[in-house]
Amino acid sequence: MAPVERYDAVIIGGGIAGSGLATVLARAGRSVLLLERTTAFRDVVRGEWIAPWGVVEAQRTGLYDVLAGVSRHHLPYHVEYGDGIDPAEADAQKLDLRAFLPGVPGPLAIGHPAACQALFDAAAAAGARAVRGVTRFEVRPGPAPTVAWEAGGEAYEAAARLVVGADGRNSQVRRQLGIELHEDPPHHLFAGLLVEDARGWPEDVESMGTAGDVQYFIFPQGGGRHRLYLSYGYEQRGRFSGDGAAERFLAAFRLPSVPGSEAVAAGRVAGPCRSVPNQSTRVDSPVGDGVVLIGDAAGFNDPITGQGLSIALRDVRVVGELLLGSDDWRPGLFAPYAEERAERMRRLGFAARLDAVIHAEFGPGATARKLRFREARARNPALGLALAAVMVGPELVPAEAFTEAAWRELMAV
Ligand SMILES: Cc1cc2nc3c(=O)[nH]c(=O)nc-3n(C[C@H](O)[C@H](O)[C@H](O)COP(=O)(O)OP(=O)(O)OC[C@H]3O[C@@H](n4cnc5c(N)ncnc54)[C@H](O)[C@@H]3O)c2cc1C
Repeated sequence: MAPVERYDAVIIGGGIAGSGLATVLARAGRSVLLLERTTAFRDVVRGEWIAPWGVVEAQRTGLYDVLAGVSRHHLPYHVEYGDGIDPAEADAQKLDLRAFLPGVPGPLAIGHPAACQALFDAAAAAGARAVRGVTRFEVRPGPAPTVAWEAGGEAYEAAARLVVGADGRNSQVRRQLGIELHEDPPHHLFAGLLVEDARGWPEDVESMGTAGDVQYFIFPQGGGRHRLYLSYGYEQRGRFSGDGAAERFLAAFRLPSVPGSEAVAAGRVAGPCRSVPNQSTRVDSPVGDGVVLIGDAAGFNDPITGQGLSIALRDVRVVGELLLGSDDWRPGLFAPYAEERAERMRRLGFAARLDAVIHAEFGPGATARKLRFREARARNPALGLALAAVMVGPELVPAEAFTEAAWRELMAV
């Protein structure tokens, strides 16, 4: 066993949240050990669309420049096609995504593996000891926490002032601490696929809508590359898995009510096709003795509204500011983070549930409700204001938009 190494922070998981926080802390002169399981970041079908409020978080932490080194492909327009919607009318009602937050030219489309790599490299460049191929670790929480870990067949031990769990939705840190993950019942399934050489779709227009028995999403990344997702009924488990999953996915993307979907479906498969259940999860508290959880490890939002990257970037800023603003890193320091995160996730969970009811239920009754909701919103833009949270951030929307009364009013449309 190598001699015990000492750090200010040991961060487990070198994805968006972990590498982001490692960069922020190392740039400010704190000693950081960053432990990542994979030896190369691969497409595991995760988020590749950063909401405008997440872009602001990246700007505030100084991480935007790192991400911009990978992609500057901001999406200025959003259009909703689908059953019952006249395409010409949809085009005329195209939403200008640059209008949401000053200084943000729309959401940022960026490859997840490349973003993780860029942040991981930035952490190393800022002085963090960044290790890949970590095969095992054990966190021992307490006022002076330690982490025993293994890589390359060697065993190591590190002592730290704080251990950060940033190891994603199936977090081992969370399990080792015995922090329970509360899961909402899954509403439907969500499959993703990356395609290349699909040049018939405009590069500056993202699109989402409901057509037939799917909700489709198209996020152009530039150069004919598009991140595609399909939501589909939970009872159709297995529809996009196993042999031929990508081909079945693309066949399902040929949607008569979505102009241009043929061009997208003609793209070349550029990654795996995988599905996850759409559900939000939460923990009672992301704070333990000598340990804090960030990113998906601390509970995640239903991917239907694409908030996880922005949530992770907010976690990085909030936890980073607390750590750099105090020398006392005992658990009480993180109370404002735990409180703000709980309310943030509650509001984003509300928005995701609303979006799921409107866009991820299928059949004539669901289409009629979607159209009623569109008309009602056109008459009264304050209706369903909760949905704006996914663009501007949950704290900028009035609290009344997330109440039981607001939910009842929405369900009565
Ligand atoms: C299908 C799908 C679509 C999504 N779409 C969007 C979207 O469009 N926009 C959006 O904002 N969000 C989206 N999300 C959510 C988003 O991808 C996540 O919220 C975000 O990646 C969370 O970042 P993270 O750093 O917490 O986790 P991750 O990005 O998952 O990183 C976790 C890291 O920890 C490492 N790790 C795991 N276990 C260990 C271990 N035992 N030891 C060491 N390292 C370990 C992993 O290898 C990985 O590098 C989507 C999620 C899914 C599933």
